[in-house]
Amino acid sequence: MNYFDLHCDTAGECFLQKKQLADSDLNISLCKGGKLDKWAQLFAVWIPDELRGKEACDYFDKVSLEFIEQINRNSSKIKLCKDLNDFNDAVSSGKCAAFLTVEGGSAVCGEGRLERLKALGVKLVTLTWNMNNEIGGGCQDEEKIGFTDEGKRVLKELSRLNIIADVSHLSKKCFYELFEGGYSMPVIASHSDCSSVLLSTRAESEDREFSLRRSLDDEQIKLLIARKSLIGINFCRSFLGDYGDDGFEAVYRHIEHILSLGGEDCVAVGSDFDGCDINPELDSLDKIPDLRAFLAGKGYSDSLLEKIFYDNAANFFINVLQNG
Ligand SMILES: [Zn+2]
Repeated sequence: MNYFDLHCDTAGECFLQKKQLADSDLNISLCKGGKLDKWAQLFAVWIPDELRGKEACDYFDKVSLEFIEQINRNSSKIKLCKDLNDFNDAVSSGKCAAFLTVEGGSAVCGEGRLERLKALGVKLVTLTWNMNNEIGGGCQDEEKIGFTDEGKRVLKELSRLNIIADVSHLSKKCFYELFEGGYSMPVIASHSDCSSVLLSTRAESEDREFSLRRSLDDEQIKLLIARKSLIGINFCRSFLGDYGDDGFEAVYRHIEHILSLGGEDCVAVGSDFDGCDINPELDSLDKIPDLRAFLAGKGYSDSLLEKIFYDNAANFFINVLQNG
């Protein structure tokens, strides 16, 4: 099967746990992807909220350098994609098409920094993690600060450089400022689920409150659909449903909800592999074909399944890469 995944934390976990991308017990390895036909994977370098400024930049540089070395050591199986030629080469030669991304905007601040990151291959920036940073408010933002001046400068740079802005983890205030600000960069929600599904399926708890803030409400989903964006379904147990009801059936509920809002060309997968607690039904890359078979059993057509698992994301990325 073909698989295009908008988010994983495998790069950081390889660094922190000293694991090999080729083969390991992480959710994603090149070995686990061996049975996939076309495979494209966004690899995020996650910036912990404790790191800001130079520390955040240094951490990104260290993790990304080591990860690119891992890619180079496995060049018969994976290719870092900086442009459309790279992507087409990777796909036609049966390699994993890898895209490098930053999760946490502290590592992209400062004059000239985004240009250097673009040259390195960074295609997407998740603007915040859970807390506020130099750019603006994360989903835990209590102060409702919106975008800072530096945040607005970063958004203009993303637009100028045609780098994707990722709204997963972003506060609602920043989300709307981004949509209402007239910025031209491509926008996606790389790994976010639907808060209205959670509201109807999860028992009340402190953890549910965080999960709701971290998820997208229907108004946000409709805006993303109208912008011809992507929403990657996140496999994190607490974002999908109640404990135990957070496997295939829960993924199906979230996809159904996005489809009910008109998102057939928008819904995709952003697994969050190696970044969260995932139900054993789908906690590694080699279980993705089982999820596809489950959804086929629910009556999804081959063409809809192709859209969800590959085509929607591939079409979006080809379009971004065509624009440089
Ligand atoms: Zn994340």
